[in-house]
Amino acid sequence: MADYSLLINGALVAGDATMDVVNPATEEVICAAPRASEAQLNQAVAAAKAAFPAWSKTSLDERKAVVNKIADAIEANANDLARLLTQEQGKPLADATAEVYGTAIFLRYFTSLDLPVKVIDDSEGRLVEAHRRPLGVVGAIVPWNFPMILMAFKLSPALVAGNTIVVKPAPTTPLTALKLGELICDLVPAGVVNFITDANDLGAPLTAHPDVRKVSFTGSTATGAKVMAGAAGLLKRITLELGGNDAGIVLDDVNPKEAAPKLFQSAFQNSGQVCIAMKRLYVHESIYDEMCDELASIAKETVIGDGLEQGTQLGPLQNKMQFDKVREMIAEAGQDGTIIAGGDTPDKPGFFIAPTIVRDVTDGARIVDEEQFGPVLPVIKFSDPHDAVARANASPYGLGGSIWSADLDKAYALAQEMESGTIWINKHAELDPSVPFGGARQSGLGTELGQEGLEEFTQLKMINIAR
Ligand code: NAD
Repeated sequence: MADYSLLINGALVAGDATMDVVNPATEEVICAAPRASEAQLNQAVAAAKAAFPAWSKTSLDERKAVVNKIADAIEANANDLARLLTQEQGKPLADATAEVYGTAIFLRYFTSLDLPVKVIDDSEGRLVEAHRRPLGVVGAIVPWNFPMILMAFKLSPALVAGNTIVVKPAPTTPLTALKLGELICDLVPAGVVNFITDANDLGAPLTAHPDVRKVSFTGSTATGAKVMAGAAGLLKRITLELGGNDAGIVLDDVNPKEAAPKLFQSAFQNSGQVCIAMKRLYVHESIYDEMCDELASIAKETVIGDGLEQGTQLGPLQNKMQFDKVREMIAEAGQDGTIIAGGDTPDKPGFFIAPTIVRDVTDGARIVDEEQFGPVLPVIKFSDPHDAVARANASPYGLGGSIWSADLDKAYALAQEMESGTIWINKHAELDPSVPFGGARQSGLGTELGQEGLEEFTQLKMINIAR
């Protein structure tokens, strides 16, 4: 396996230490990746700070051209990046390929936007303008479920808005970010983009660093709260994209056979390791048994395996800690409900869990109330749709949710009652770069994507002229 380097101040440098990166499908060490020291983190922030004045004065078009070159480099190396993504993350190669091309698409999206000066008042006595100015050094902290595309949500708007950035991938999936650093080191002015890696020890110092003006974080709610606390001292700008426990609500007019494949995909893609995966499914009592049977039969037919093997539909859990957590939750779920598919782990190396459907379970059980972040779906019976929405809302999370019905008016009315950042109707977990995305309650703070996602990387500055 190739050597990897950090990207600091335009140079590819060795880490002060190394750390093993494990392939979750084989449990074999892929390579020893560089691990940055706190001194190297400080160098990266210093480089980003030094690069900021010149970068922030470049024209919007110049910055967009640089971001497009990053997207070009990703597309030109898509096959290699996708294989590496499968090896470090576990997802099937087709999904990894889609993530890599999706990264280029999400990067390019922000180059289609502008930050025009808005005139608030242009009257005889005064002219008032709203300008959007860059903030300075951005710290971008990324989780392990979508290491590439979630980075793009931060990298592109940060750069287009005129900020410089220090990116920190998750400790268990650092390789695609490091590879990207290698690909772009000659395409981006020194210091504008820096990549550092850690063993879960540099997120806090990056967040608290006095020269970091904004932290854009995607990860768990517990860590998000630490980021908020760490940023509070200097009143830094923060965007937090956190955990979820999305509910899907299926009304009595839905055909179980037709809907089940879509519901299954919404819950199990990326082996359930998706912030906006459907994590609780409420089904009307009149179609409950049939829906459970349909979902169980899809689960039993699903091929799990090494993402590099042809035919694999679901890969392993990404890391041992998550694997152990989900297995523990499934063991408990067997006492709170009835497991009708999966529930077991194949007797071979790799963090594999068979896709698991749990029925006869209800709110109050851990498998329903907590974010599983794995290939398991509890199916809950309801009789009154308003009650189902109330149960969906009764969660500390509020990331997404969906209503499924043949009657769009009825679904739309229920969507008004649902309290989360996104409500889908007859689909779930669709992300589009032009559609703003963010969580309610403890699922997050602020917005990513869309024009709002770009403006999150700016300071609103008013110029108010007497005349
Ligand atoms: P995590 O919170 O453990 O780690 C996320 C990142 O934070 C990693 O890079 C980690 O090294 C870093 N980190 C650790 N301690 C830190 C600290 N004290 N300060 C700052 N950073 C620190 O999350 P995870 O297990 O990697 O990811 C899974 C979670 O992410 C799930 O809860 C999932 O729902 C959530 N997620 C949310 C979204 C979203 O957009 N809302 C998207 C993907 C994942």
